[in-house]
Amino acid sequence: MRSFTGDQLLVATHNSGKLEEITALVAPYGVKVIGAAELGLSEPAETETSFVGNARIKAQAAVQATGLPALSDDSGIVIDALGGAPGVYTADWAQTDTGRDFGIAMQRAHDELVSSGCAQPWTARFCCTLVLAWPDGQEQVFEGTAEGWIIWPMRGVQGHGYDPVFQPLGHDLTFAEMTSYDKNQISHRADAFRKLIAGCFA
Ligand code: IMP
Repeated sequence: MRSFTGDQLLVATHNSGKLEEITALVAPYGVKVIGAAELGLSEPAETETSFVGNARIKAQAAVQATGLPALSDDSGIVIDALGGAPGVYTADWAQTDTGRDFGIAMQRAHDELVSSGCAQPWTARFCCTLVLAWPDGQEQVFEGTAEGWIIWPMRGVQGHGYDPVFQPLGHDLTFAEMTSYDKNQISHRADAFRKLIAGCFA
């Protein structure tokens, strides 16, 4: 494992929520976080078929454009009875002509599960992959998961994306019924970041 000894980290995302979360996480280690938008970097096409593949595309594009160590993430939900779908296409399932609608995406997941004829519980997991790419070509990968199952009808109004249909293992609430504090204790993203901090920043 390689320790992060620099003082600047480029975060290869245009998502201000992710940027804020990562800035707070690495702040105790004296690292200045720079967002991809701040440097005017474009968003590369995510053409791979795995989370790690797409995270690698984003991290490598950022490190090559700037010479700074770059961190990227890619995430989504994997539903066992659907052969792992939507997986890397998690956000695509929500795409409409006028933007993203996760109600449509969750309905599709439910409808495909019913059509599959698979009995409940419909096991699933959220996955988050982080790639830290160094200017010398080395990279480190950290993977986090949150195991659970798809429930129907959807419950809860907090969170985002597929949270209302995902009930994490060992809990009676969906992610969308939890406070963000409680979700952040057990989420796939928290799991991956714990591994990144332990491996490179602690
Ligand atoms: P990306 O990592 O920004 O490409 O996000 C992929 C998609 O996965 C998002 O658009 C969300 O739909 C979904 N997703 C990732 N993490 C979560 C989560 O914690 N809750 C609900 N949906 C999520």
